[in-house]
Amino acid sequence: MNLPSNHKALLTKAIKDKALQMGFDACGIAKAEKVDTGHTLIYEQWLENKHHGQMHYMANHRDKRNDPTLLVPGSQSIISLAINYHLKDFQNPQSHYKVSQYAAGKDYHPVLKEKLYHLLAFIQKQTPVSGPRVFTDSAPVMERYWAQKAGLGAPGKNTCLILPRKGSYFFLAEIVVDVELEYDTPFEKDLCGKCTRCMDACPTRAIAAPGKLDARRCISYLTIELKEDIPPPLSSNTQQYIFGCDICQQVCPHNIKFAVPCSEPAFEPLPAIKEWSRETWEQMDKSTYRKNFVKTRSAFPRASFGKLKANMGLKPE
Ligand code: SF4
Ligand code: SF4
Repeated sequence: MNLPSNHKALLTKAIKDKALQMGFDACGIAKAEKVDTGHTLIYEQWLENKHHGQMHYMANHRDKRNDPTLLVPGSQSIISLAINYHLKDFQNPQSHYKVSQYAAGKDYHPVLKEKLYHLLAFIQKQTPVSGPRVFTDSAPVMERYWAQKAGLGAPGKNTCLILPRKGSYFFLAEIVVDVELEYDTPFEKDLCGKCTRCMDACPTRAIAAPGKLDARRCISYLTIELKEDIPPPLSSNTQQYIFGCDICQQVCPHNIKFAVPCSEPAFEPLPAIKEWSRETWEQMDKSTYRKNFVKTRSAFPRASFGKLKANMGLKPE
């Protein structure tokens, strides 16, 4: 749908203002069109190298991944959003076992979906859109690519999107609509320069080359996605992480300098994450797991109870 230019500018501004009011930290807009060939080839090579491991869904729907107008017929604009999840000192110092910041609170998928539908309802009130779709890590959408196209930031050597003067502790999400909006200038600047801190700090050498992550070696993949127990010698290098890993972001100068704690209450650490000592973690049975991580809608059920125990080096009873 093509709007008169003054209406297009007003709607674009209204969407961005509303997104920030709702607690998103950044919002940019890109034209929905085919992904650049160079980027597609890099992704194809990553799959060819089998760096996606058991995440077979990453190889599905390649045509739609490479062209959002096939994923959402009639789409014209991709509204790209980012929201901070950074937490500081959020675990009991006696916990021994570590959990990534992104998994300390409620599972972000439903939290973000709710916000996206809220923002979409706002857009629908301004102008009728047909067949819009919302995404957050939930479909074949190249999230970081579109965020960069929408001017939000640039991917670092650890592959996380760095937002200038904000850091990289952000969840990304998108709304795809059939309305033409004003588009942002893609973010072209390299934010890493000569820095290699993330590559040097990764305990499993998962960053095979700048911007190339071998997920099969990444602690996030090994503790969540890998169905089997973590094989040696990787199992002895997980640095006590039992769900996710933050190391390559913790050492990033952009986070050290700019990251601020998140303000979204749903991402605040759950009581068990804040309080549990090593002993409590090791005594966790199915009933305490359900009470503390399933009923509280945490992200932990993405791995099973047995997988969590195995990540601690324990056998489930
Ligand atoms: S998340 Fe952890 S294991 Fe994965 S690349 Fe970063 S430092 Fe390495
Ligand atoms: S640690 Fe350095 S190389 Fe890695 S993402 Fe941050 S700035 Fe880039």
